[in-house]
Amino acid sequence: MSIAHDLQSLRARLAPSDRMPLVFLGHGSPMNAIEDTAFSRAWSDLGKSLPRPKAILVVSAHWMTRGTTLVDVSAMPKTIHDFYGFPQELYDQTYPAHGDPDLARTVATLLASHHSDVDDTWGLDHGAWTVLKFLYPEADVPVFQISIDMGRDLAHQLEIGRTLSELRDRGVLILGSGNVVHNLRAMRPGGRPQDFALEFDRLFTDRLEARDLAALADRPKLGSLLQMAHPSVDHYMPALTVAGASDARDELTFMTDAIDLGSVSMRSYVFHAA
Ligand code: ZN
Repeated sequence: MSIAHDLQSLRARLAPSDRMPLVFLGHGSPMNAIEDTAFSRAWSDLGKSLPRPKAILVVSAHWMTRGTTLVDVSAMPKTIHDFYGFPQELYDQTYPAHGDPDLARTVATLLASHHSDVDDTWGLDHGAWTVLKFLYPEADVPVFQISIDMGRDLAHQLEIGRTLSELRDRGVLILGSGNVVHNLRAMRPGGRPQDFALEFDRLFTDRLEARDLAALADRPKLGSLLQMAHPSVDHYMPALTVAGASDARDELTFMTDAIDLGSVSMRSYVFHAA
């Protein structure tokens, strides 16, 4: 598919507005979507305090591509139930928000130097809809996803965030959904937080508070601790995209700073205008 829309059309359509916050949510188990948990409650509370955006751009850990960043331009993104062995109630959930094909095409243009392309086959995976249903329960704000390019290094996601940051001044909410620590092999239901999980969660928090984003993407320095926290970095990448879209004007607020299942950090954070 070709990318036809240009930045002028974006700027014309989305008038400048108050700067939108940036949100990163640790989504954890899909069951949070149908259970009253500390996490789902926190997402509801956050939703009540967020401004109403013109559109939501979601970067989810569950849309992985290689060599390209895809942008979903579908008019009506379908709800994807991309998990196995859960109760029927979870498969019955839908999030019937509209997409925003024009804006999505423009975002693909914005990301052209990052090997972007448009796609109309994805929709909303559970990284997106299980949290959106608490943030905006009416599903009345247009929403679309972009993929994470697993073929590139971590710094690439910071750059994607930096490039997307101008959308914040045009009423677009950027929502990242992943986990700051995500090691399913080390998961222990009901288990105490494991040392590596606490250690990486602390390191991430310290570096983010210090706005030392380069350190968060420095694989050699993060070394074996990153390996333990993220045997695969898919759940880490959206945390970097959101960080990359922040700047010195933002205040940073953390929420739900728990390690769930021993090895999944549910830490979430919001960058917002001071
Ligand atoms: Zn996930």
